[in-house]
Amino acid sequence: MITLALSKGRIFDETLPLLAAAGIEVRDDPEHSRSLILSTNHEDVRVVLVRATDVPTYVQHGGADLGVAGLDVLIEHGGQGLFQPLDLRIAACRMSVAVRADFDYTRAVQQGSRIRVATKYTHIARQHFADKGVHVDLIKLYGSMELAPLTGLADAIVDLVSSGATLRANRLVEVEQICAISSRLVVNQAALKLKRARLRPMLDAFASAVSAAP
Ligand code: ATP
Ligand code: MG
Repeated sequence: MITLALSKGRIFDETLPLLAAAGIEVRDDPEHSRSLILSTNHEDVRVVLVRATDVPTYVQHGGADLGVAGLDVLIEHGGQGLFQPLDLRIAACRMSVAVRADFDYTRAVQQGSRIRVATKYTHIARQHFADKGVHVDLIKLYGSMELAPLTGLADAIVDLVSSGATLRANRLVEVEQICAISSRLVVNQAALKLKRARLRPMLDAFASAVSAAP
């Protein structure tokens, strides 16, 4: 049995065409089923639905043989025990610093002020500000980061941005781009050896589908 870990939403939706390219069709629609294990047109391939941040953990410990996870999630997880053979180029966005329009970020940085930064991505944020030599107090949040500068909880946030519509809706401005983010295929290292005959053609099909995508 090959078990693939996916998260609901954009990663699931954008992985489907890649699965199709490998001849795999998922039987149930996760939005209309309560089941967390989805069967496919192959008896020996199944999909398990887990939280986006749990995908690396499932694959690392063998709860799944492979999975799809955002680079953001992989950096925060650390990537131990994971083979990362392929950038799938899906769920593309960027990791950015954003502030309230009336907060002078450039000046705060130049003056060497301590900046209060709220984020779910504490590893990425800590590394970014350390590289810049900026002192920050990190405040760990699990969601709705945009709210932090609006309520006075923080001066800045580090969050994912794609169109910028969410930032605009909350009157925040993007002041710095930290890195580009997309989703990666992750594979359990033991599974890659033990189930090589079944996994290798799947990985090759994904790779061809990614190169063929516009
Ligand atoms: P959960 O909903 O389980 O708390 P989450 O909110 O991180 O997790 P999603 O919002 O579905 O889950 O995001 C999953 C992945 O999709 C992220 O890890 C990231 O790589 C990518 N992603 C997140 N936001 C965007 C976005 N605005 N545009 C494109 N990709 C994004
Ligand atoms: Mg979400």
